[in-house]
Amino acid sequence: MNLDHGPSSPESLQSAQPRLVYKGLTVPYIAAWSSEDSPITGDPDLRLREHVVTGARHVAYADERPEDRAYGVLWGRMPNSPGIGQPRFASLHTARQREVMARGGCQVCGGAGEVWMVPATVWADYLDVRGEGAPYDTSDPPICRACIPLAARQCPNLRQHSFVFLSVRKWSVSGVRGYVGDPHTFDFGPVRDIALHGAVGYDAARLRLTLAKGLLVTLRGIAVHTDPDRVRSLGRRRGWEPTPSSRQAAIPTQRAGW
Ligand SMILES: [Zn+2]
Repeated sequence: MNLDHGPSSPESLQSAQPRLVYKGLTVPYIAAWSSEDSPITGDPDLRLREHVVTGARHVAYADERPEDRAYGVLWGRMPNSPGIGQPRFASLHTARQREVMARGGCQVCGGAGEVWMVPATVWADYLDVRGEGAPYDTSDPPICRACIPLAARQCPNLRQHSFVFLSVRKWSVSGVRGYVGDPHTFDFGPVRDIALHGAVGYDAARLRLTLAKGLLVTLRGIAVHTDPDRVRSLGRRRGWEPTPSSRQAAIPTQRAGW
């Protein structure tokens, strides 16, 4: 593992992390490393709990800490040891992805994100399924201009299929990617996308049983470009604020565990 000092743009340098390099390949800031491997749904501290008044069941940790919850949902625990072991290019680190996505940071260097970059095939699939003008949901944080050439060269999906840049009117945190626990057997289902409070498809009972592994945002008012210089900014960010009901759903005052 070697370090270099990332993008040359002075603005990005202020907040960018030193890039981690493994066998000549830059490892994105949000990628997981083998030392961080964690079967998050197999965590022995996970519990299914029942609200003593409402009877509503929710997932929790036996030794839960405030930082285990964000956006009104429980998050899978992973060690934080980037640079140690081998990179897992296809796997995202739960906390780093969430932190970078929440602030619109660059997924490669961790600095300030400047543009939404999407593989052309992914964009074509979206147009087929959702149609032009529909909101676009993604778990891929933006990228800074300095990291675009690196991503285009190094990411297999981007290298093979080219890519587009999205000019976006507004974007907002809207959901999580994660696993929903069965309220009776406590078995976790397959990975799925789950709406947060205030987003289309929100289901309080399902969110209470969710163990999250990634943050999703929704982009709206999208124009597509092949030249990143045609994109002036990430767009206006609409904030996500927990409402009284989502707070209550996340942190019941009375609990009985088993
Ligand atoms: Zn960057």
